[in-house]
Amino acid sequence: MSVGTVGWARLCLLLGVLGSQACGPSLPPSVVLITLDTTRADHLGCYGYARATSPSLDLFAEAAVLYENAYATSSWTLPSHASLFTGLLPMQHGAQSVPEGPNRSLGYGVRPLPESATTLAELLGDAGYRTAAVVGGPALRRELGVAQGFESYKDELPQLTGKRAQQVTKEATALVKSFGPEPYFLFVNFFDPHAPYRPPPPFDGGLPPSANNGLGKALVEQLIAGVSPRLTSELEPSLRAALSTLVAGYDAEITYMDHHLGRLLQAISAAPRGDRTLIIITGDHGESFGEHYFVSHGAHLYEHNVRVPLLIRYPDRGPERVSRPVQNHRVFATILAAVELTMPGDITLHDLSETDGTIVIQVQRSDSNIRLFGPFFDRDLWAILDPPYKLIKSTTGKLEVFDLKADPSELRNLTASEPDLTANLLTRLETITLGQPPLFDEKSRAVLRSETEDALRALGYID
Ligand SMILES: [Zn+2]
Repeated sequence: MSVGTVGWARLCLLLGVLGSQACGPSLPPSVVLITLDTTRADHLGCYGYARATSPSLDLFAEAAVLYENAYATSSWTLPSHASLFTGLLPMQHGAQSVPEGPNRSLGYGVRPLPESATTLAELLGDAGYRTAAVVGGPALRRELGVAQGFESYKDELPQLTGKRAQQVTKEATALVKSFGPEPYFLFVNFFDPHAPYRPPPPFDGGLPPSANNGLGKALVEQLIAGVSPRLTSELEPSLRAALSTLVAGYDAEITYMDHHLGRLLQAISAAPRGDRTLIIITGDHGESFGEHYFVSHGAHLYEHNVRVPLLIRYPDRGPERVSRPVQNHRVFATILAAVELTMPGDITLHDLSETDGTIVIQVQRSDSNIRLFGPFFDRDLWAILDPPYKLIKSTTGKLEVFDLKADPSELRNLTASEPDLTANLLTRLETITLGQPPLFDEKSRAVLRSETEDALRALGYID
């Protein structure tokens, strides 16, 4: 898709009015969208976590709107980011795991974001914004369709397990400085909290060297095999100790990321018109540590896999905490509204100010999860949340309904005791999912570069 290359400031310079009343004050705000990969909201200080994992983000929260109950549209990186970039749910944009593809021999089939999608970068670029992205992980590499619209898309991976936060901040800061006073759209993906949990010194203090053992495949196998019949509090001591070490490594990665996030936020504020910049910080999915017999993400729709942080610093709005549930694809329309842009055509997309709190989430089966964790994961899942109730539907025919207020750990399935509630939620879910005309070609498959395959293998996504 096309990219706008005549920036606002350059246009003003051509007209000879830069800095004048005619142009300077009317420049639209720059937009920075930052994703904290794999970061659970409940592991951040501003969301009430006991460990001091996020001093920089906590400081940012003091001047931001913090959404206390934010949900991703899926439980892994690509579909969630595609929703952020397009305002669409995964069943419409189609960028997610698929049963087979050219990379099937490597255990990884995936459909890219289609070229027909209209992205934030395209819309903002066409409006005169400079557009650039710095990406930390392999699931957002350009062959997955998410680079469309960006003038500059920095997705090189200096190491197979992703780009470190220090480098991400260095590259993003250089871009901010290069833009000067021109309105820009910058997307930044910090990847460090994704497994393997190997925080660099000095953030690794106190962790045994053998602790940082990737996705925890052995743990998942033991959990699924029913070694321990119940959740974390009742796990065998050895399993509980292993999980707690995993969590310590994960938290240390968040702390390391937060340090460099703080440096980036300082650079953005110090840039021309920095105080007028719209800054959105959110997550793409969570991470499970033994809840529902699982470690990792991308294979469940329980709360630990889909709750994310969402904080927005609006140029003209003070701090606030919003408790009603919101979903991350509405960030798309929120950004467009903030910079006073509209979607082309007659497409209506809702922003975060809408009061309808219905949340719809989807994750499709992936060859990698089936191969890594077993046939239990050979199913697609959908969920609908209508507070306080949540329904999860599986292609195996299994239905679950939970009251999240009374049962936040999702342990008591209400389908038998609440048949009318179950039927109502199921009807609403099917109405919403069937009402999403797909943008994608069913047969479309991403062809991954060899180094992307190597990186996904290093992260445990493929054998
Ligand atoms: Zn992710």
